[in-house]
Amino acid sequence: VNTKVVLTFPQIVVQEPITCTLVELFHIKLNILRAHIDERGGMIVLELTGPSETIKQGIEYLKEKGIKVKPIEEGVRKVDDKCTDCGACISVCPVKALVFERDTWKVIFDDQKCVVCGLCIDACPTTAMELLL
Ligand code: SF4
Ligand code: SF4
Repeated sequence: VNTKVVLTFPQIVVQEPITCTLVELFHIKLNILRAHIDERGGMIVLELTGPSETIKQGIEYLKEKGIKVKPIEEGVRKVDDKCTDCGACISVCPVKALVFERDTWKVIFDDQKCVVCGLCIDACPTTAMELLL
């Protein structure tokens, strides 16, 4: 199965090679979609691929380490009321999940293509792109 999760962890865990351990101990395939880590702690959005039982064990391991694990149900959302169709998000999206609609020049979002990298969230001047947790 394929699951996207958000990990938030305190400073004490930052030094540990958590993601390497997940791969080595549980043989879970990882894709880091977004990460923000500083001396106070951090947040990582991960895509986990593997047998569901193994992913469950991996998530339990993370929780034992004091990491909060939240599954992402829907990824990223575009709040159309806040969007000014400025197009700033289009140029940063690596998978063309945001494009101008040909006739209207409105910016449309295809959540099936989105890999939750978060670049549009940082780029949007009106906070119209939101991470769903
Ligand atoms: S989160 Fe990343 S992949 Fe998804 S729409 Fe935004 S920039 Fe594109
Ligand atoms: S950057 Fe924000 S306001 Fe501009 S088109 Fe994208 S979602 Fe809309």
